[in-house]
Amino acid sequence: MKTYQHMIGNEWRDPASGAWIDSIEPFSGEVWARVPRGNAQDAELAIEAAHRAFVSPAWAGLSASSRGALLRKLAALIERDAEALGAIEQRSNGKLIVEVAGQMRHAAQWVHYYAGLADKVGGRVVPMPKPGIFGYTRREPLGVVLAITPWNSPFALTIWKLAPALAAGNTIVIKPSEFTSASIFELARLCIEAGFPPGVVNVVSGYGAEIGEPLANHPRVAKIAFTGGEHGGRSVNVAAAQRFKRVTLELGGKSANIVFEDADIEQAVKGAIAGIFSAAGQTCMAGSRLLLQDTIHDRFVERLVEEAGKARIGDPSDPGTQVGPISNRPHFEKVLSYIDIAKNEGATCVLGGKALSGPGYGQGQFIAPTIFTNVTNSMRIAREEVFGPVLSVIKFADMDEALEIANDTDYGLAGAVWTRDLHRALHCVERIQAGTVWVNNYRTTSFATPFGGYKHSGLGREGGVEAIEEYLQTKSVWITTQPNRENPFVLG
Ligand code: NAD
Repeated sequence: MKTYQHMIGNEWRDPASGAWIDSIEPFSGEVWARVPRGNAQDAELAIEAAHRAFVSPAWAGLSASSRGALLRKLAALIERDAEALGAIEQRSNGKLIVEVAGQMRHAAQWVHYYAGLADKVGGRVVPMPKPGIFGYTRREPLGVVLAITPWNSPFALTIWKLAPALAAGNTIVIKPSEFTSASIFELARLCIEAGFPPGVVNVVSGYGAEIGEPLANHPRVAKIAFTGGEHGGRSVNVAAAQRFKRVTLELGGKSANIVFEDADIEQAVKGAIAGIFSAAGQTCMAGSRLLLQDTIHDRFVERLVEEAGKARIGDPSDPGTQVGPISNRPHFEKVLSYIDIAKNEGATCVLGGKALSGPGYGQGQFIAPTIFTNVTNSMRIAREEVFGPVLSVIKFADMDEALEIANDTDYGLAGAVWTRDLHRALHCVERIQAGTVWVNNYRTTSFATPFGGYKHSGLGREGGVEAIEEYLQTKSVWITTQPNRENPFVLG
């Protein structure tokens, strides 16, 4: 069994509490690693290390191109260790080995992308309204960035923050989920190997209440980049507001996947399945509300049930598996409780609707791909984020009704439209209130594209050029070229 330590200032340290948290493999139920149970003392050490690094010549004195070069080394190390990192991630959160392998490749590409951007963001010369003044802007880093990440895609979602934060010249303290910290300590090891100066990257672990809150409240933190649930997001946002810290919040979703009668039905069936059953539905961008035009509803549901019913469910380390376990026990109980809620609300379960146990299902933390029809948008199953393999099918008559249902939600992370009609597609793209809209595909993402939420799904963007802006602030500089001889105290 592996025991991890905190990484602070490029040194490995036991937690101040002397206590550890067991990491449990979702499939086997085995304790396979221990991660530190950090507290306010560890938070203090990590933030101080990051602050010292931020003002040190070793980091602050580096050119943007040199920061890019360090990031490129890190990307190469992630590529080198991708397989081992994927295996650790898979043990940690039960994601399919094929999914984590893809995420590791993407993680390296993300780091390359921001390595390239490091020396391409700059200020501008400002055309001044007065003679005798030269004005320009500088784009400067914020300081110490706190990254708080969830259990569903720990490595990828950490990289989404670390790469732009470091490219922009900040330092970072990372607090991964208490359920899945292992791969982030491996990332810390690679950051040391890549040659980042001490304190530029720090990783501490533990529970939100014990170390997450002291970190978020720390006065030296300039920016919090948080991915997780609404409850934690609100708490972090309040902590940030107290000291006017910047925040990026990537929260939940209840995305609408809208299929019109003229769609390519077979492609849309595949998209609906990928939208909700990939990662066993444990993804913020899940297409958890499937909106079907009434004219195709019955035959679409029939094909959907037929295809989803064939899913190979089981050991996530088997490359042939299509649906893996639920990542942790409390979440397993939560997803099951939503299945009961849906049944009690009068939705019709046409597939699954139960936990799976027995040979091939490890310790039984599995939920069968589940489809509910006869769902109305007012039911809890349609309004609340389940974060599991549970699909709500809702009927609509025409485009206006589809859009009304799609937007009748507190969330606004993503949405999709399946149609062959270009005008209808573009009209829906304009009207859907969400940070991402897919047309005739679902769940595609890239380092090149900004991702984030409208409404309760969050604030700010990760990915694309937009993300580096979230880690920079602007300074205006005024230089006198012709001093005002009449009154040296008045320049304006
Ligand atoms: P969570 O909010 O329970 O935990 C996320 C992280 O926040 C963990 O590291 C946790 O320890 C920490 N935390 C919790 N309370 C805190 C507090 N008061 N102060 C500081 N830190 C605190 O979320 P989770 O269960 O790990 O993840 C699932 C959620 O994440 C879902 O709602 C999902 O939609 C969301 N998510 C969003 C995106 C996105 O990009 N929008 C991506 C993945 C997951």
